[in-house]
Amino acid sequence: MSDCLFCKIIAGEIPAKKVFEDERVFAFDDINPQAPTHVLIVPKKHIRGLKEAEKEDEGVLGHSLLVAAQIARQRGIEDGYRTVYNVGARAGQSVFHLHLHLLGGRDLRWPPG
Ligand code: 5GP
Ligand code: ZN
Repeated sequence: MSDCLFCKIIAGEIPAKKVFEDERVFAFDDINPQAPTHVLIVPKKHIRGLKEAEKEDEGVLGHSLLVAAQIARQRGIEDGYRTVYNVGARAGQSVFHLHLHLLGGRDLRWPPG
């Protein structure tokens, strides 16, 4: 998708602080962090959001969660972290390229706002 912000970050056309990359996902620090660790794990395939994900995307969705767990281990935040998909504008989704938030490094309240 030529006009997608996260596709441009994956392509290296817009700079981002890369945390992890493999053939399926790209992970980078959020530009406006909501916690000491706030990483976005993004499939390289352009998928609009979780509700648009299809059966064939099952693998990359599971992989994204395991990448989040690996980053959390590396960051030493395993005493408490959260993985979040905001789905749809009403839940706060503002970038319409699927991305998993990894948040940690501070106490996290429940329920979220
Ligand atoms: P959403 O609100 O869609 O769930 O999450 C989008 C996230 O992308 C937000 O947390 C926002 O701070 C982050 N974001 C938006 N634009 C950029 C950018 O240009 N670079 C980076 N690294 N993060 C961005
Ligand atoms: Zn995209």
